[in-house]
Amino acid sequence: MLTMKPTMHMEMPDTERILSEALGTSLQHGETMARHTTLKVGGPARWFWAASDVEMLARVLGLCTVHAIPYLFIGHGSNLLMSDAGYDGLVIQNRCKGCVVGEETRAESGVSFGSLFLQTARAGFGGLEWAIGIPGTVGGALVSNAGAYRGNIGPLVKSLRVFADGTDQIVGPEWMEFSYRDSRLRRSGGGSTVLLSCVLHLTERGDPEEIVARAKLYQAQRRAKQPLSPSAGSFFKNVVDRALAERVPSLTSGMRDSGVIPAGFLSEACGLKGLRVGGAEVSEKHANFLVNAGGATASDLRSLACQVRAAVRARFGVMLEEEVLYVGDWTQWSEPEIARETEWLKTTR
Ligand SMILES: Cc1cc2nc3c(=O)[nH]c(=O)nc-3n(C[C@H](O)[C@H](O)[C@H](O)COP(=O)(O)OP(=O)(O)OC[C@H]3O[C@@H](n4cnc5c(N)ncnc54)[C@H](O)[C@@H]3O)c2cc1C
Repeated sequence: MLTMKPTMHMEMPDTERILSEALGTSLQHGETMARHTTLKVGGPARWFWAASDVEMLARVLGLCTVHAIPYLFIGHGSNLLMSDAGYDGLVIQNRCKGCVVGEETRAESGVSFGSLFLQTARAGFGGLEWAIGIPGTVGGALVSNAGAYRGNIGPLVKSLRVFADGTDQIVGPEWMEFSYRDSRLRRSGGGSTVLLSCVLHLTERGDPEEIVARAKLYQAQRRAKQPLSPSAGSFFKNVVDRALAERVPSLTSGMRDSGVIPAGFLSEACGLKGLRVGGAEVSEKHANFLVNAGGATASDLRSLACQVRAAVRARFGVMLEEEVLYVGDWTQWSEPEIARETEWLKTTR
């Protein structure tokens, strides 16, 4: 176990010099984050570095801890809404892609989730079929306990290598406190904890062609339901509320029995498909996808999200919770009037 403590009583560090010395020409300045998020929005990162070696990454995280350099760790940016103002610190993009496949599959956290599925499927390991079409990294998937079609990554985790509180350590899956699209890392708002690699326990064996064929069925369902415009996937989490599920008309019996109401169902019932703020739009194809329909800003998207939440709260009395994470500097953004105007509905219901 390697522990690094922030320097006490030191002078203000010359962050630029420290980062330049450590990263040389791979350190970028003012990189536009719109290039690194699937929503294609987001302002500049003061410093930007793409990490491709996990040991070097651990060293740089240690350096940032010691010198109190603020950093934001990202994967493929497929679950993020980065502010227009960007991030005033170091954005570290994860490109650590080492992977050894087996019953115990060892993956660095920058492996793309889709690639992990294909590598394991080709070696005759099933269990990740549902991952096809989830566009992020393994690290991003772990943070949000990503899943689809009743599969989640959490139950497959055997152990993790994490950099937490300046310490490089191995932890068990219980450390993550996984729940539906959630983990302790989401609840802590990201912060300084970084997942470096993981070991997944894959017990299902099968014929590679059959495994891929099963995944292609899921992929076809996705293609039929999801828009192609830039998005961050489902914007809001589905709502788990048995009482509401009993009340809402025209729910399928499956949804009513499980007490899980898709956020897209609620948004569509409010007639929100096609609603726009600037270049941001509630997709006509899927009411829980907020898309960049062309020229959207991050503020457009966040304001649209507020309108969706306000409308759903007004009609159903339930507060949608974002699956997408707001990152960067949002201090210059303010909540639109409509969201505040409908506040009273919550208190008078
Ligand atoms: C078209 C589309 C479809 C989608 N479908 C699904 C779906 O079916 N199911 C689903 O669950 N999600 C879905 N998503 C959402 C998203 O792809 C997943 O949440 C994905 O796992 C995020 O991974 P990422 O690498 O892009 O993470 P990012 O968006 O880059 O980061 C997300 C968060 O994780 C943190 N993070 C990332 N990597 C690490 C790490 N190694 N250590 C610590 N923190 C880290 C970041 O700081 C940030 O807080 C979809 C997205 C899109 C665009």
